[in-house]
Amino acid sequence: MNMITNHMPTAELQALDAAHHIHPFSTQDEIANKGVRVITRASGVTLTDSEGCEILDAMAGLWCVNLGYGRDELADVAARQMRELPYYNTFFQTTHVPAIALAAKLAELAPGDLNHVFYAGSGSEANDTNMRMVRTYWAQKGKPEKKIIISRKNAYHGSTMAGASLGGMTPMHEQGGLPIPDVHHIDQPHWYEEGGDMSREEFGLQRAQELEKAILELGEDKIAAFIGEPIQGAGGVVIPPSTYWPEIQRICDKYEILLIADEVICGFGRTGNWFGSQTMGIKPHIMTIAKGLSSGYAPIGGSIVCDEVVEVIGACEFNHGYTYSGHPVAAAVALENLRILEEEGIVDKVREETGPYLKEKWEALEDHPLVGEARVEGLMGTIALTPNKETRAPFAGDSGTVGYICREFCFANNLVMRHVGDRMIISPPLVISKAEIDTLVERATMALDLTFARIKEDGLYK
Ligand SMILES: *Cc1c(COP(=O)(O)O)cnc(C)c1O
Repeated sequence: MNMITNHMPTAELQALDAAHHIHPFSTQDEIANKGVRVITRASGVTLTDSEGCEILDAMAGLWCVNLGYGRDELADVAARQMRELPYYNTFFQTTHVPAIALAAKLAELAPGDLNHVFYAGSGSEANDTNMRMVRTYWAQKGKPEKKIIISRKNAYHGSTMAGASLGGMTPMHEQGGLPIPDVHHIDQPHWYEEGGDMSREEFGLQRAQELEKAILELGEDKIAAFIGEPIQGAGGVVIPPSTYWPEIQRICDKYEILLIADEVICGFGRTGNWFGSQTMGIKPHIMTIAKGLSSGYAPIGGSIVCDEVVEVIGACEFNHGYTYSGHPVAAAVALENLRILEEEGIVDKVREETGPYLKEKWEALEDHPLVGEARVEGLMGTIALTPNKETRAPFAGDSGTVGYICREFCFANNLVMRHVGDRMIISPPLVISKAEIDTLVERATMALDLTFARIKEDGLYK
């Protein structure tokens, strides 16, 4: 019998947490001093904490609970699968029905000849797989020196050694000796922060052409692949200029570089299509998937791989795999999640109804004195906070100070909105209703007003 329950006093839970639980991406001392928020249950888009507060989760957990919380169908499928076959592996020429059925479904949903799935337990693991797979592909083709993977600064591709190396997060590289060799980072298509006086379109083209420059500098015969998120998520919801991806595609085609689209956030409806690659009009050889694949109800990720790559690597033994590759319970849950997304028309609804509705409400936040830009694609949104709307200037002092203040006001007003530096971002469950979008924007506006008042008081706004 589990003696630690939802019904214990919050302070006791916090004390046990601080004593025994090491949190990801957190300062452990701060957690001990400040105390964590304990989430006890959730339904739809609403979280409940141990004090009974009801919080609108505008981040869908960590960008993953696309179907919203509390779907009994997923719980039922998991219980059924656990009773029938809780585990078996997919090594050594064995398989099971959930792994087969999910792979077939993903091949049907994925565009073009992306017809094959390699399973992982998470997005990070899937990107580890991708790194090995593209290098194995070139080695099989007699070009083992084609090893370098080009990525972008401020990209997020996970937190394992390979995932964090592929990612372009400086604070992550600073710990643990990263990046590992043969990963090269070019600049990101972040017009608002880095575009200067250029038009968005001009800038998008210029940033894409950095890929061509890098290929020529490093040597075409050394490059295995380019990896990118169709829209950068953790980097601050960076929606690239319309010129960016077509130019990247042209360059990948010209130099025969494999293109990996990291769809961990953009996949499964987030941008109003099944995949962000469709929204951006690109044709990747490999797509990384996780998060929304199971709406976060079970940990599962993978790579959806095109015919060509599988034909080439199929000739050798791929010495790689995870105990939980294609875990039957996670695969069954993912399959049920996709069934519901499809049968309830949720992706179409994001594209045609809730996405455009959020866009209208969210972009109106640009009228707020603190907001330099407010943008939305599908159901991901971002606002840049600035002391000067004209020049898009950052705040004096440490980046993230004002964003953090705003996030704290959101939390205090029962809204989960994340900050990346001085940028506020949202990615709500795809089932969010128009009325809930109204509440989200109302609470966000209140947090902006409170932040504005606070930073004027504190002298941070000049
Ligand atoms: C979250 C994320 C990952 C890593 O996925 P995990 O399941 O946390 O390992 C990889 N790529 C992108 C784009 C992500 O957002």
